[in-house]
Amino acid sequence: MKISLAKSAGFCFGVKRAIEIALNAAKSHKNVYMLGDIVHNEAVSEKMAQAGIKKAKRLLPGKDRVFLIPAHGIPLSMIKKARLLGYGIIDATCPMVKQIHTIARKMENRGCRIIIIGDHKHDEVQGIKGYLRSKAIVIESLRNIPAKKIQKIKKACVVAQSTQDVQRALQIITKLKQYIPDLKSSDTICSATKIRQEEITRMPLENDLMIIIGSRNSANTKRLYEISKSLNKKSYWINSESEIKNNWFKNVKKAGIAAGASTPQAAIQDIVNHISEINP
Ligand code: SF4
Repeated sequence: MKISLAKSAGFCFGVKRAIEIALNAAKSHKNVYMLGDIVHNEAVSEKMAQAGIKKAKRLLPGKDRVFLIPAHGIPLSMIKKARLLGYGIIDATCPMVKQIHTIARKMENRGCRIIIIGDHKHDEVQGIKGYLRSKAIVIESLRNIPAKKIQKIKKACVVAQSTQDVQRALQIITKLKQYIPDLKSSDTICSATKIRQEEITRMPLENDLMIIIGSRNSANTKRLYEISKSLNKKSYWINSESEIKNNWFKNVKKAGIAAGASTPQAAIQDIVNHISEINP
């Protein structure tokens, strides 16, 4: 069986950077606190805990404490609150996500209603919303465009969560143009996501089976899996080698492996090694 590993598999620039910032923060400060995870991966969260970074459910008074902002960003109000409570701030927000905040704010100041293409509940989307004065509209898919609400808007700007599917975002923008006379859009899907998506639109067609590695709470891994599954029914989403089933590989001559942006290299290597030993 031939195994092809996607060149983009594993940490993207923003995730590498955030982990580095977090580990340096843990070295130089005793009390580093986070709300949620630095990136969406259990092994990385464990590494953060081992480094001494504490996870809090809510912000308590922060004298002599440092508040760490994760790669996907958080609402501005939360940063202000942390400052007021006395926390020092260390910001590991990916610069690409920060750019979305800047664009959305700038366009809001120019009188645009902001429309975000993304996953309603995702931290990055909550973060973008939290940088605006007005209420942004979030659209998850072509099927859930709130036509009645959209029809009333004269001027809007669309931004997308950095890990969205490029094709799906374009379809949504095309549809929105039918409703909104003055619609601007900004290409905010990051280049790391685009490279990953280019590979995932090609690899499932070139291989008999696809394995997508990443955490269940990783939005970009979910996206990779969805695209892969739509092109190749034999696509499997796993987070560790223990989830691999040998019978998936029956009659498989070519297996492709891709991974989300927050999947550690060690997990990918373990899975590649495991699959290399399967005799289909
Ligand atoms: S996926 Fe893109 S936006 Fe998100 S952390 Fe990585 S580089 Fe940054």
